[in-house]
This record gives sequence, structure tokens and C-alpha cells, in this order.
Amino acid sequence: MNERHYPCEFCDTTLPQERKQVTIARQRKGQWFIFEDVPAWVCPHCGHRYFDADVLVAMEERMKTMPADARPITAWAISLPQKAG
Ligand SMILES: [Zn+2]
Repeated sequence: MNERHYPCEFCDTTLPQERKQVTIARQRKGQWFIFEDVPAWVCPHCGHRYFDADVLVAMEERMKTMPADARPITAWAISLPQKAG
């Protein structure tokens, strides 16, 4: 299966979603996790990313049982004021 044939729920494009590897941030119990090389379906029109259920489950599992090859990183959390700019 290389493409999905139902339209994007955000932009109603008829273009098929594209298979891509992406980096995403997920949060579990207040802790952030960065996942790299995550297989996603990406809308070629608006860029919205969709993930298969088994991918979401796999990420959930890895957040529970930290894999040995996980690398710690430093990050800055910044919130924008209500009226940005
Ligand atoms: Zn879209």
C-alpha cells in the first residue's frame, strides 16, 4: 500500500497522501519525546500529517519503555504572548 485514496479531512484535496518519514514531538505525562524517521502519510496540498494506528501504538510503547538507543536532547520551551508580534 503506497498511497491513500480518501481525501484530506482538512483541505478536501483529491491528491493522494504521500508516504514520508517525518520527525514529530509527542508528549506523555508532561514529558516530551522527539521521534525521528516516523512513517507518515502527508497531504501534498496542506501538509497535514496522518499516522497509521500501529505507528501511534509503537510510539506509545517506546515512551513507556525507554529504548536503549534513545538520546537525551536539550530543548527550550517558549510560549508566545496572546498577541504575538
Ligand atoms: Zn490537506
